[in-house]
Amino acid sequence: MPEWIAPQAAALTGAARAGRLPHALLVHEAPGAGGDWLAHYAARLALCQHPAEAPCGSCTGCRRALAWQHPDLARVAPLEDSRQIRIEQLRELSAELALTSHAGGYKVGIVTPADAMNRFAANALLKTLEEPPARTLLVLVATQPSRLPPTVLSRCQRLTVRAPTRAQAVAWLTEVRGAGEWEAALAVIGEAPMLLFEADPKPIAQAGAESRETLAAIAAGRADPVAAAERWARNEPALRLRCFENWLTERIRRSPGTGNLMPEVGAGPYLPGPGAFLNIRELFGLLDEVRELRTALDVPLNRALALEALLRRLAPRGAGVAA
Ligand SMILES: [Zn+2]
Repeated sequence: MPEWIAPQAAALTGAARAGRLPHALLVHEAPGAGGDWLAHYAARLALCQHPAEAPCGSCTGCRRALAWQHPDLARVAPLEDSRQIRIEQLRELSAELALTSHAGGYKVGIVTPADAMNRFAANALLKTLEEPPARTLLVLVATQPSRLPPTVLSRCQRLTVRAPTRAQAVAWLTEVRGAGEWEAALAVIGEAPMLLFEADPKPIAQAGAESRETLAAIAAGRADPVAAAERWARNEPALRLRCFENWLTERIRRSPGTGNLMPEVGAGPYLPGPGAFLNIRELFGLLDEVRELRTALDVPLNRALALEALLRRLAPRGAGVAA
C-alpha cells in the first residue's frame, strides 16, 4: 500500500468493517498521487465477501475486484481520443447501479477523472446520489472538484490524497517496479508517482536532463531558441513544457528576496551571462504562459512557433546567437 494513502485507506477500512461505507465518495487527489488507487481499494472493501475482515484478499469478490473483473464493479473514464466523459456513459452507469447485484452484495461505480464530466453529464448521476439504492458505492476521483456542480459535491463524502514526498514516491515505485531512475523521472514530472506506474523512467529522466541543459544554454545566450523550439515541438512537447515549468519554478523559489516586490534576479548562478534580464515578475508571467501552452497542446496550433516565443524570452537581451 502506498504509505501516504494509508490513513485514508484505514478510515475506509474501518467504515467498511463497521458496515458504514458511504454511498458516495469524492476522492480529491493531487495529480498522479493515487486517487484511482484509493477508489479501487474502496471497491475491494465493498465487494469483499467477508466484511468483518475486508479486504480479505482471498474471497472471490476480492480476487475479481482486484483484477477489475467483478460483474458488480464498473469504471467510467473518458473514451479514447476524448478528454470528456460523455453523458451516455453516466446514464449507463446510473442504470447499472440501479440493478440488483450479480453476486448478491454491493454494486460499485467509479468515475475517473470525475472533473472530465461537464455539468450536464454530472447531473446524470444526481438520481443515484439523491436516492442511492441500498448497497451501492459511487466513487468520484477528481483533481479539481470545484469543476463539479455543488449538487453533486454536497452529496459526497470527501477524502483527500495529497502528493507524497519525493522519498515516499521513490520508495513506492521501487517497491512495485524495482530499482530505476525514479528520482530523476519524478524531478521531471513532479510528485506524481502514479503517472510513472507503467512508464519507463529512463527516457523521461533523459528528456529532463536535456531540457534543463537547453534552458540554461538559452538563458546564457549559448543556444538558439528557434532550433530548440523546433526540436521540442517534434519530440514530447508536453514533457518539455513540464520541464520548462519546473525549471522556472525552481528559479523563482531560489531567487533571493522573493519576499520583496519584484526584486531583480541578478546575473548570478541562476541566469548566468551578461545581460541576464528576467526579474521575478517576468519569471511568474512566463511560468503562467508555459502552463497555458501545456494545457493547449491538443488544440491545433503551431507548436514550434508558440514554443519559440516562450524560449526567446529567456535569452539575454541583444544576445546574437550564431547560426
Ligand atoms: Zn474478500
